[in-house]
Amino acid sequence: MRTRHRILFRYAPPPLPGLEWVELRGEVKAWSDPVPLRRAGDGAFEAELELGPGVYAYKLQHADRSWHLDPANPRTVAEGGHRNSALVVGGTPEPVLHAPAAPWLFARDDGRVTVRAGLRRGAGEGLALRWDEGHGWREAAMEPVAETNEHRIFERTLPAGARALHYLFRAGGALVGRGAGEAFSVERRALRSGVPEWWKDASVYTVFVDRFRRAGGGWGAAPEDEQARRGGDLEGAREGLDHLAELGVGAVHLTPVFASGSAHRYDVHGFDRVDAALGGEPALRAFVDAAHARGLRVLLDVPATHVSRELPEFLDVRDRGPASPFFSWFEIYAHPFTEGLEPGYRYYQKGAWREPLLNLDDAGARAFVVDVFRRWARFGVDGFRVDAAAELPKALLAEIVRAVRGERADAVVFGEITSDHVESWTDGLLDAGTDFLAQEALRGFLERGASPEATRAAWLRRRARRSEGHTRLGFSATHDQVRTLSRVGDRRLARLEQLAVLTRPEVPALLYGDEIGLASDAPERGFEDAWPDRMPMPWDRTSWDATTLALVKGGLALRRASAALRRGDELALDWGHAEVAGFRRRAGEETVDVALHRGEGEVRLPLPGGAPPQGRLLLVAGEARIEEGALWLGPKSGAALAREASREARELFEAVHEEGPRVAAEAFVEGWDECPALPSRLYLTLTERCNLRCVHCITGAPARTADGSARDMAPWVLDALREAFAGARYVGLSHGGESLVHGRFFETLATIQQARAGRPGRLDVHLLTNGRRLDPDTLASSSTTA
Ligand code: SF4
Repeated sequence: MRTRHRILFRYAPPPLPGLEWVELRGEVKAWSDPVPLRRAGDGAFEAELELGPGVYAYKLQHADRSWHLDPANPRTVAEGGHRNSALVVGGTPEPVLHAPAAPWLFARDDGRVTVRAGLRRGAGEGLALRWDEGHGWREAAMEPVAETNEHRIFERTLPAGARALHYLFRAGGALVGRGAGEAFSVERRALRSGVPEWWKDASVYTVFVDRFRRAGGGWGAAPEDEQARRGGDLEGAREGLDHLAELGVGAVHLTPVFASGSAHRYDVHGFDRVDAALGGEPALRAFVDAAHARGLRVLLDVPATHVSRELPEFLDVRDRGPASPFFSWFEIYAHPFTEGLEPGYRYYQKGAWREPLLNLDDAGARAFVVDVFRRWARFGVDGFRVDAAAELPKALLAEIVRAVRGERADAVVFGEITSDHVESWTDGLLDAGTDFLAQEALRGFLERGASPEATRAAWLRRRARRSEGHTRLGFSATHDQVRTLSRVGDRRLARLEQLAVLTRPEVPALLYGDEIGLASDAPERGFEDAWPDRMPMPWDRTSWDATTLALVKGGLALRRASAALRRGDELALDWGHAEVAGFRRRAGEETVDVALHRGEGEVRLPLPGGAPPQGRLLLVAGEARIEEGALWLGPKSGAALAREASREARELFEAVHEEGPRVAAEAFVEGWDECPALPSRLYLTLTERCNLRCVHCITGAPARTADGSARDMAPWVLDALREAFAGARYVGLSHGGESLVHGRFFETLATIQQARAGRPGRLDVHLLTNGRRLDPDTLASSSTTA
């Protein structure tokens, strides 16, 4: 649980006649959701805040709608032309920008810990990290990773095998930590992420239910009103599952399926039942079972900020006013209600809709919302999209996640976040959020002529704003946006966008029809006015764009096969060409480079020197080839390529391995201090956890398992040991806890086997175990693996 800080926020503006109220806006809540300040006796305005450690950008908005920096706070942050005051909670003083929470401090999937910090421009050339993991203080330079208008952002990733980490920064000659040079101290277990493992490898396909497929196929004549229902249903969606399984997506996100009167069904009047027009609950059950049978996860969509005026609880309030037990669920300022623009309750307006807003500060309304999620998690879906999640109180989102996980420990909850500070809702709250600014960076390059440098800088700023890539969803368009192909009308550019979405760190989210080049000829419309692009999915395959389909299918297959694409880091990549942008993804020994060429003509991109210099094409949009040590891209073409060691480098590497024992013997005879030979015996402790509580235990496993301080071997250690496995003759899986409870036990065996494959001689793998998990299945898996 993150420490919460109680803060009395005070704002003392210069005396201004007529200044009746001031609101605090920004990342302390959401830019769209202000904190009203109350007037204090001395003319200042104030509010009590309760915040976890973090860096919060904010501004003050006066009653005349003017925006102001906080004159009492000299700390500022600036990005993309906006300069804001910065509230640093539990973090460092100037000139260093850091707080001990994500995205400034987080545990990576491979077990290491990343420490990130900003240094105010002009305050020095670089930043060093000084840290202690229980073996004494060490110090090393941090790597520059991104730039904002006022700060350079640095990071360093530590092995972090110890239970506690102490650290501070060196800026110039001074040590900067918590307050006056005091080190930050964090327990390793406090950084654990609750994100379900499957989500880290996920891909998502959005089924806009009314427009995806009608049972039996066929759509009938189009109605005049583009917003009228077209009759897509869950039986039809079930029929479409083979297409999705063949495509290779991992999860299906259904737009709302609850009882509703519209085609989009985001105005729900019955959260406890599936819309009868979709086939009711039996149809959802059949859909979920059929999806699970194909290995697909199912995510439901819950709009929880507003409801239909037909919701029974709202009708009761309409009819009975304050006598209704649901009166406090809504934001009511007058009763009886009217039909005008001031109907007596606050509402969400979209076109002709006036949908009552739920009063989510009310305990009854909150319990109602939490119960909706709990009920459908119990039904057996694999997770949820929270519509307009940034508009829900964070405490409510935390309750929702708890309730969902209480029903299904591996269910995922992600949010629609339109704000740029997605990290405020992820990293300790939701599992992921939509990243519209990452989408903007891609569109800026492909559609609006942004330079590769600017695109790279924008991506890196997004990277510096998050922890792991799976805390974001990336997309070319959501169901609320006009599709790229509709806007640009060029299939080649749309395919480049898909190539990028499928290879970037964010969890790729496809909108139904993206994979077949679905597009409208409607003029550009705004966000949430995407009806032309919610056209029915055509099921006559001859109308599908086979090239786009092959690209998406290939991209999803590549992502499934590539740890670098699913979980790898994102690095800046400069292709040295004004029309080419891209990025590098890397995990362990695997490196994948992506190049996107938006121009006409052919470009030659030398594959730069330095390891690894060679390339192998993995995925191509348009025309690409590798020839004469260069990547050649045709007009509006792109490619993902594996970077590989050269033949010479590989031969040298193999020769050293072959020579290992001879070199070791020579080293022994000659008495060398350092010997390049690989170890012949390795002992690994995979985990300190145990499934037993033996009273005679001398390892400490029972107590550590109980108090949560037991450590698991981090995945990066496996990567680091590949070379050693190749040369070893014996690997002992020791019993410092029970190896078979480690989630990567079989992966460890497989890694040893792969690293060892083709090597001469024999390798013995010895497992020390308490035997309780050695059932026939485990034995079968171990023998198949190793
Ligand atoms: S099985 Fe081994 S590690 Fe586990 S509690 Fe017993 S003695 Fe300790």
